[in-house]
Amino acid sequence: MSEPLILDGRALSEKLRKELRGEIEGYVSSGLRRPGLAVVLVGNDPASQVYVRNKVNACRKVGIESLFYQLDENTVTEELLEVIAELNSREDVDGILVQLPLPSQIDQRGVILAIHPEKDVDGFHPENMGKLVAHAEDGFIPCTPLGIDILLSHYGIELEGKDVVIVGAGFIVGRPLSLLMLWRNATVTVCHIHTRDLKKHTLSADVLISATGVPGLIKEDMVKKGAVVVDVGISKVEGKIVGDVDFEGVSRKAGAITPVPGGVGPMTVTGLLMNTVKSYRKRMKVHSTSTMNP
Ligand code: NAD
Repeated sequence: MSEPLILDGRALSEKLRKELRGEIEGYVSSGLRRPGLAVVLVGNDPASQVYVRNKVNACRKVGIESLFYQLDENTVTEELLEVIAELNSREDVDGILVQLPLPSQIDQRGVILAIHPEKDVDGFHPENMGKLVAHAEDGFIPCTPLGIDILLSHYGIELEGKDVVIVGAGFIVGRPLSLLMLWRNATVTVCHIHTRDLKKHTLSADVLISATGVPGLIKEDMVKKGAVVVDVGISKVEGKIVGDVDFEGVSRKAGAITPVPGGVGPMTVTGLLMNTVKSYRKRMKVHSTSTMNP
């Protein structure tokens, strides 16, 4: 039995980020300012703190200026909206990221709506979601779907006419990813908690993408031989980070598979960096010097 191809998001991220760093240094040496990303964290959720730290560090490494705002757990909606209004108006801020989920007293939808769509590098504003529906490429694609699309394309995985099955219809991953897969002319099926006979659908997948947060949901007998399997899930089980996919079992069937960690996670952060530089280029009216980060 041959081993599946490992879709190495960490290695690809390193390559893409090196390119981004070179591009940014080029702008800076020609006298332009650095791109700027504002990251806002409300409260002390440990997982969110880790995600935010990763994003801020990744920015620094590629030469994006990051402004970190840590707000108190008891922050109210109006206070957060004031911070966003200030960031919307700042010339040196190209992207604004408010780490989700927000504490329950905050109107999350109101906050997403308040971020200027041209600085919405997470791609959650309805204007950017609408552009995803309309296949308008000047919007921001949410970072995880963007990262997955780049990973698949890098490994030469054809999507046109393929059966892509997405398990999980969340707002951050599954839903926007289904639209992006339609851009690629795939035949898309979206499954979720109410899907009857999940296995019937997963078995039909040429490309199976799971984004549920249910550890071990996707098992060997649910995967077609040779399928490409992308595991978006992140859960902690007995202190270990695991995905949705039973990696060992599914590896016996899959033609290609992403590891957890080291697959989709780093590509998500790379997607964020790419969106921030995309915003910068548009605002500074400069063009990409890179073929990998157009
Ligand atoms: P969500 O809660 O918004 O959506 C989860 C989806 O999974 C829902 O549509 C739900 O119906 C479906 N689901 C739940 N249990 C199911 C089951 N037993 N069978 C079929 N469908 C089921 O979550 P989300 O924000 O989309 O995140 C999903 C997972 O992806 C989480 O583990 C999250 O941590 C992870 N995530 C990872 C990255 C990354 O960079 N790797 C980025 C974002 C989210």
